[in-house]
Amino acid sequence: MKMNIQGLVRPEIRTLEPYFVPEVSYDLKLDAMENPYDLPGDLKKKILQRIKQISFNRYPDAKGMALRKAIAGYLKVSPEEVLLGNGSDELILAILLTFGGWGKRIVYPVPTFTVYGLLAQITGGIKREVFLEEDFQLNARKILKEYPDVIFIANPNNPTSNCFNKDEILEIAEKSRGIVVIDEAYFEFSNRSFINQIAEYENIIVLRTLSKAFGLAGLRVGYMVGSREVIKEVSKVKLPYNVNALSQAAAEIIVKNSKRINKTVDIIKAERAALMEELKKMVTPYPSETNFILFSCTQAQELYKYLLKKKILVKVFSESYLRDYLRVTVGTPPENKKFLAEVKNFMRGKK
Ligand code: PMP
Repeated sequence: MKMNIQGLVRPEIRTLEPYFVPEVSYDLKLDAMENPYDLPGDLKKKILQRIKQISFNRYPDAKGMALRKAIAGYLKVSPEEVLLGNGSDELILAILLTFGGWGKRIVYPVPTFTVYGLLAQITGGIKREVFLEEDFQLNARKILKEYPDVIFIANPNNPTSNCFNKDEILEIAEKSRGIVVIDEAYFEFSNRSFINQIAEYENIIVLRTLSKAFGLAGLRVGYMVGSREVIKEVSKVKLPYNVNALSQAAAEIIVKNSKRINKTVDIIKAERAALMEELKKMVTPYPSETNFILFSCTQAQELYKYLLKKKILVKVFSESYLRDYLRVTVGTPPENKKFLAEVKNFMRGKK
């Protein structure tokens, strides 16, 4: 029987496109802010040994208590103030299912991480996008004017890679009657956090991920930190076994070895500075407090295509106001060298 499937789909979903992940062939992947270094061999071995002891036939710990305790120890908070997600993406959804939805106003500055808008729409909320200032800074007054029920602030921001003025964020937390989600996916590169403000501002939720500095993008582990009451409410919408047993075990080992991980953060930061200096000679890069660099150049679209031909993948944007920008993830020294050499070749050809 031929059915009218389109007629059955919720209107919010009908107009959406699935999250875009380019299906192109590349040798060098510099588009997704992954850590270019896999885990140190001994840590990986330790993880594999632990995984061997897991009973695959059993469901994982629904509360993820061992991992929550490890994260709580790392952050110096209580495990009851931590909730785990299958990547922080899943927690963005859980937050919106708890505090957003029909008739609720979901506000975020743009440009920013596109998943906020996508999930705001999927959950049926009213999306309100507020442009950042010329210098990519946040204007608290403009955000507050939208009467938000939920606000998403990526700090540092993706793709602009800067941190926002602390006072603007605190003004939003202070004056807003809504939930203020501060997404610290790149915290380890910026070292600026609002976790200590949660005790004072109960409406603040801090989101973190193990996908970036901790190098676990493939295992999908994120977490949120909030007041006990906020965590209790969001726990109600979280699926029972959302983080699998293998990821929980691996993440626990990684978090307990965070000092080792911080070494790669230092290496990436040094490499970021070198990459920035070289890029300055050819394009306009913006200061970065993350593991990626946003840059503008008049032939951004052509450069993207040229790099792709050379099997180097960077991030290009679909928004018209980002047409002249590209975003590159900091790679290993040889990877960055290869990328820079091709940017140079492209620029030479253009002259
Ligand atoms: N927040 C921001 C700001 C991000 O840039 C990303 C990933 N690009 C995420 C969250 C999602 O991370 P995860 O892998 O934990 O879902």
